[in-house]
Amino acid sequence: MERFYRLRTKAVLICFLIFLSAVTAAAALREVTDAASFVQVDAKVQTKECFSDGSTLIVLMYHNVLKEGKKQSTYCIGEDALKKDFEYLRKNKFNIISCAEVIDRVYAGKSLPDKAVMITFDDGYLNNVKYALPLLKEYGYTALFSVVGDYTLLDKNNPKVGGDFVYLGWNDIRQASQSKNIEIGLHSYSMHNLRPRLGVAQLKGESDKEYSRVFADDTDKLIKSLYNAEVQGRFYEIYAYPYGKYNSISERILKEKGIKMTLTCNEGINSVSSPEDLYLLKRLNRDATKESLEDIFAPYDKLAASGK
Ligand SMILES: [Zn+2]
Repeated sequence: MERFYRLRTKAVLICFLIFLSAVTAAAALREVTDAASFVQVDAKVQTKECFSDGSTLIVLMYHNVLKEGKKQSTYCIGEDALKKDFEYLRKNKFNIISCAEVIDRVYAGKSLPDKAVMITFDDGYLNNVKYALPLLKEYGYTALFSVVGDYTLLDKNNPKVGGDFVYLGWNDIRQASQSKNIEIGLHSYSMHNLRPRLGVAQLKGESDKEYSRVFADDTDKLIKSLYNAEVQGRFYEIYAYPYGKYNSISERILKEKGIKMTLTCNEGINSVSSPEDLYLLKRLNRDATKESLEDIFAPYDKLAASGK
């Protein structure tokens, strides 16, 4: 009997030891897993930090902002999704910077803030004021609204225009420009068309001289009209190319007119350290068929992580 008890004690002890080693192994495994996930999180932070070199500039491109729940597309985002974008930017400590501030810093030889982002809305839609402006105010962000002269005819006072795609009239643009959350930029007077020319493209057979005159006149007309409408701000320094079309002549003319920043639709992020770098800025189109802003940033995060 004594032997039985001794054996039983031994068995209990062995069982306990097995249990103890299993618990220890599980704890060790958890530690390894935790360490792995910690490394992962850390790597994520690390990639974001790669945007913190004082010259990286991300320019986001939006067009329409529609009421919550409306169908979203490449150029239309819902106000709820836009709010999520702004929340993402805030949570991940991106620094929203105005065009004027970027220009001033670069001309003063100062670096950009870490993770600098410019927010831009093209075409001058009334829905930008209706849905984006309240969010810009809420988050304390400033965005560029690039307007088209001809489109002011398609404003809310035009009985033939309705629905989602009403544009800002001159009065609307002036009012918008009075907000510290909005900057106005140039997007051509009459050259936001697909035909006869795509945007400001030079026509086949059109002489350089004739093309220069057409483009310069169009730009002057918009600048003059914005002055006449008593629009505030530095619109005379910022030009967003319609459909992202540009050429060496258009660039030369804009520089001669004192434009300090031009925006394209070429996809990418920018490295900005001298005034020359402010021309032909690349942008990231916020395609709202993509789930989140994080998805839009993902390819660049990977690039930054790989050091390219
Ligand atoms: Zn446009």
